[in-house]
Amino acid sequence: MSTTDQGTTSPDQGTASPSWQWPESTWRGHVEAVRAGRPLRPERWPGGARVAVALSFDPDHETIPLRDGQTTPGLLAQGEYGARVGAPRVLDLLARSGIPATFFMPAVSALLHPQEARAYTRDGHELAVHGWIHERNTLLGAADERELVGRALETLDALTGQRPTGIRTPSWDFSDSTLATLLDLGFAYDSSLMADDEPYEILARGRPTGLVEIPVDWIRDDAPYFTMDRYGAVRPHSRPRDVREIWADEFDAAYRSGGVFQLTLHPHVIGHRSRLVVLRELLEHIGAHEGVWYATHADLARTVRAAAPVPENPEQTP
Ligand SMILES: [Zn+2]
Repeated sequence: MSTTDQGTTSPDQGTASPSWQWPESTWRGHVEAVRAGRPLRPERWPGGARVAVALSFDPDHETIPLRDGQTTPGLLAQGEYGARVGAPRVLDLLARSGIPATFFMPAVSALLHPQEARAYTRDGHELAVHGWIHERNTLLGAADERELVGRALETLDALTGQRPTGIRTPSWDFSDSTLATLLDLGFAYDSSLMADDEPYEILARGRPTGLVEIPVDWIRDDAPYFTMDRYGAVRPHSRPRDVREIWADEFDAAYRSGGVFQLTLHPHVIGHRSRLVVLRELLEHIGAHEGVWYATHADLARTVRAAAPVPENPEQTP
């Protein structure tokens, strides 16, 4: 396969066969579909800060079991805990610390808890899109995914009067049509991918899109450390203070390099007593440093875009 075919041959060609039989255009095409482009870390953070701290919380609540059609009260109660107990504790901690955060909330969760959704924007936090019912977006057809993301956007806008500018896909992944959908709906940033520690511009088949990526990672997420499947054999519970050490190490390295420390938490996970104390201690550790800029993901995306302006007419179709 000639390398001049790159980008002109559908990556789907040959995927029915085993991967070791794929032509170069197939494996290269998959890799090039969505890729990290320009790094977007500015020379300096606002106010001369040395590090940017972007905290996020995903108030999924009942949508995790609902997404899979699981409707029993025991499973739903775990999500209910997030709304009744976890979210108020998180809001209280942020208010007392004076720290803004971003809340990626599935639309069904926001409809179940409209006062909570409004409390986020009322307190000066950012509310952003996290799917309709925490659907597994990589399994959806293009039309269904587009309709659900659009409906989620309109729902959060109607509930709070503030139009979200960012999205975190529920599955932390893209389908073949996710990127085109996000560009079409005018999102300024995504926070679902993992190609760097620092923000970058997303490329679609090698072309700049203008879409800012604020990368996540499972290392900086509470769920993998603390959650379990009731009927599964694995019990991956970690000691909360061990997890605090991992996150503090992540922050310390970001501080030394002048980068971004991004964290993803869930009210129904971190909101428990023995875990919230760890978040409080982490915020105290961060707060003991000079030159910390606390930013919502939208603020961060805006700042890195301004520092490294995107092309005038970014590619709108991947
Ligand atoms: Zn989620």
